[in-house]
Amino acid sequence: MENIIQNICVIKDRIHKACIKSGRCPHDVKLLLATKTVPAERILMALRTGETLIAENKVQELKEKYDTLTAVPHINHFIGHLQSNKIKEVLKYEVSCLQSLDRLELAEKLHQRLLFEGKTMEVLIQVNTSNEDSKFGVHPDDAITLVREVAKLGTLKIKGLMTIGLLSADPEHVKPCFRLLKSIQQRLIDLDIPEVEMEELSMGMSGDLEIAIEEGATIIRVGTAIFGERMYPDSYYWDESITVNA
Ligand SMILES: *Cc1c(COP(=O)(O)O)cnc(C)c1O
Repeated sequence: MENIIQNICVIKDRIHKACIKSGRCPHDVKLLLATKTVPAERILMALRTGETLIAENKVQELKEKYDTLTAVPHINHFIGHLQSNKIKEVLKYEVSCLQSLDRLELAEKLHQRLLFEGKTMEVLIQVNTSNEDSKFGVHPDDAITLVREVAKLGTLKIKGLMTIGLLSADPEHVKPCFRLLKSIQQRLIDLDIPEVEMEELSMGMSGDLEIAIEEGATIIRVGTAIFGERMYPDSYYWDESITVNA
């Protein structure tokens, strides 16, 4: 059994050191707990240490853990590939920010539902910075067009960008992915599109959070380094064409 409390301390220390190294303030980097496959009771342990930001990849898990997690106040983001037929549930289970908005078709359907419910929702645009087919996200060349289209809808409040980046044993290989995301963010800031905010850059995970922070991350998403190794390979979450026999 992993020691969640101690692991969170270690992560906080890594965030702190990376911030100091790059002349940033540790308060400007939010820690998001990536909770896929983690039982609700263990997530509660993390929330009780004072963490507030958590995210699931699948609507099914969001649903299963929802009741148990109401015991401690927290904020739900969503970081997985979202199918349009799951939109209602994402709203029902109080996801406040969809970090994985990667296509106009999804944005339009979400918009329709939000209009119907009289709500708005925060979103990050997910960009595929690593050119790997298996990962979701809008192509970097199409990101600005998508931002413009989504901004026109009115119910989706764009707060920034998200990327997964290249998965490599050498974290230096992921740096160009993070730089690319940062450069798209800068272009969007320069364009100053109405209703578009660009303060958030969600990038960096257990293995590469230091590099992400150096490159300007404002949200890092950490799973394994806090909750321990997962049973399923990440491809199960990142590529729906792969099925796992559980
Ligand atoms: C699982 C996941 C993470 C966390 O990855 P770790 O390597 O376990 O820290 C971050 N972002 C997304 C989108 C994920 O699916």
